Amino acid sequence: MDISVVIPLYNEAESLPELTAWIQRVMRDNGFSYEIIFVNDGSTDSSWETITRLQASDPAIHGICFARNYGKSPALNTGFRRVQGDVVITMDADLQDSPDEIPELYRMITEDGYDLVSGWKKKRYDPLSKTIPTKLFNATARRVSGIKNLHDFNCGLKAYRNKVVKHIEVYGDMHRYIPYLAKNAGFTRIGEKVVQHRARKYGKTKFGLDRFVNGYLDLGTLWFQSRFGIKPMHIFGLLGSLMFFLGFLATIVILILKVIAMCSDSYDFYVTNSVYFYLGLTAIVTGTQFFMAGFIGELITRNSAERNSYQIAEEF
Ligand code: UDP
Ligand code: MG
Repeated sequence: MDISVVIPLYNEAESLPELTAWIQRVMRDNGFSYEIIFVNDGSTDSSWETITRLQASDPAIHGICFARNYGKSPALNTGFRRVQGDVVITMDADLQDSPDEIPELYRMITEDGYDLVSGWKKKRYDPLSKTIPTKLFNATARRVSGIKNLHDFNCGLKAYRNKVVKHIEVYGDMHRYIPYLAKNAGFTRIGEKVVQHRARKYGKTKFGLDRFVNGYLDLGTLWFQSRFGIKPMHIFGLLGSLMFFLGFLATIVILILKVIAMCSDSYDFYVTNSVYFYLGLTAIVTGTQFFMAGFIGELITRNSAERNSYQIAEEF
């Protein structure tokens, strides 16, 4: 099979027939063998009935129906477990992404050798309240992830080599960072294609402004995981040692002052009146806490199923 299209959707019933017909037309015109996997993320409208009806007329259509709304990432991840095509395309269900981009995306994966091609909505039809934070967000994501050539991390329209989606796990709200997840899994040929973006025709956006707060928090988590995920002691041990060293210095200062005070008659010195006493105390306590965090982190990673999973590129 050439192409699997994965479409996560939440209350998008009006868009589905039009979207399906459009994808089918593109696939037939280009002679692709394909499947379309709709993942219904707990819609409360008639989305699932619509999918069932569409399926009756085309056996290439498959549906997965969540019992409740879990989110876009769980929907994508579940779809990814089922795909069979050599190239996997994800797109939003709201008709903001154009199926006409599919042939070129397919070509970039199969001929240009990309592992992942992300769409870039260069000209967007979104309100300013969304486009400006999006620019900032993408600039941060580029820096933190080190994927310098991507302008639009969170574009719903993306193409993947099959083994990429089988090797990554998209959870929480991590769909915003799939290129970063792919890079961490060892898929470094990541490209970009300018795609046309269309205004939402039916319904309204499913994400509010909290997407930006959560987006940044998730980016921090991913960065931490990729740097120290399987060696937490390397960061906590370093911080702990620094704190301990500071505490040690403060204690030495205290000792010296006390000895001087004991040797002279005119100079009164109480340890608990000195700023160094409190500095030393705090530094040693926090240092111990950093070490404890490190040890607990190490115990947790030791039990993690991921601790020895490597992606092997070639082997004889
Ligand atoms: N979506 C989903 N589960 C959710 C929220 C959204 O499956 O909890 C789907 C939604 O139906 C759409 C895609 O994710 O197909 C992108 O959502 P939306 O168009 O609302 O996002 P935006 O275009 O505003 O970034
Ligand atoms: Mg949309």
